[in-house]
Amino acid sequence: MPARVLDGTTVARDIKNEVRPRIEAFARANDRPPGLGIVLVGDDPASETYVRNKLKSAGETGLRTDLVRLPETSGLEDVLGVVGRLNRSEDHDGILVQSPLPASMGPSAEQAVFDAIDPAKDVDGFHPANVGRLVQGRPVLAPCTPLGIIELLDRTGTVIEGRHAVVIGRSDIVGKPVALLLLHRHATVTVCHSRTADLASVARSADILVVAIGRAGFVTAPFVKPGSVVIDVGMNRVEDRATVLRLFPEGHGRLADFDRRGSVLVGDVHPGVADVAGAITPVPGGVGPLTIAMLLWNTLRAAEARARQGA
Ligand code: NAP
Repeated sequence: MPARVLDGTTVARDIKNEVRPRIEAFARANDRPPGLGIVLVGDDPASETYVRNKLKSAGETGLRTDLVRLPETSGLEDVLGVVGRLNRSEDHDGILVQSPLPASMGPSAEQAVFDAIDPAKDVDGFHPANVGRLVQGRPVLAPCTPLGIIELLDRTGTVIEGRHAVVIGRSDIVGKPVALLLLHRHATVTVCHSRTADLASVARSADILVVAIGRAGFVTAPFVKPGSVVIDVGMNRVEDRATVLRLFPEGHGRLADFDRRGSVLVGDVHPGVADVAGAITPVPGGVGPLTIAMLLWNTLRAAEARARQGA
């Protein structure tokens, strides 16, 4: 029997429907809506798409959004200047600097920028103060994609406590924080990466397998325990037909999409895994919409916390 599809679009819509009346209540009580400042540097097409989707969703729920665009040639000081202004703004409760920053800014630019964001407005949860609070299991603005994964598991009836969760990928934005969130929810957690020995057999011991590596269709059926829950975080735009054919057979609708558009968005998990897993997230329409929903959620939480503190 094919795996149950964990529909992120529906869950994200439910979350937005919960956030919207709280945003309206906040706006009534504070004479202003919660505000999110987004900083976009350069013209990376993927970043443009992500930011456009964030602005659209925020607008639909009544959040105020301000997009600050900086040219590709900007220096680190320019970005830090905008962050400083948003930190001081009364009207902005959340600040998001879209990554990646241009390579010309240097390898430590992102860290410098994330470190400069007021932790109370750090709706991406990347500031070291928030990372520390996450490690300690204290209330925190946690990164949006990992938060979305937990919401998706909870709202689709997946038991986390006592289960073995294997996370493939150890990035600061997905792998590590989702491992911590799962640990705090009493899963037994194993984190894998590019040097993990016998990755397939470790992955196959998972009741919940979270894959965040950035390699199209890398995780195949032998990595997956029959009946397990597979969360595919990967978002890979594939532009060569041979790779698409490895994932989708002739006659498949996604192959036809590719032939029409010249590219297709796929996850890190091979579609054939759906024949083995008990439940699986689609790409697109799985984790992606939840990342945006949790950004709105984090912005609301930041606004409510700032209002409580009389900011
Ligand atoms: P990243 O920073 O590039 O990290 C990739 C991780 O995968 C690293 O820890 C790396 O191991 C590991 N890895 C790479 N190749 C591997 C292999 N062959 N075997 C085992 N581990 C391997 O990536 P990321 O930012 O976490 O993103 C991962 C994917 O999620 C990307 O496709 C990204 O686009 C997607 N993503 C989606 C969303 C969403 O909203 N849906 C949000 C964020 C990211 P090492 O540490 O050993 O190098």
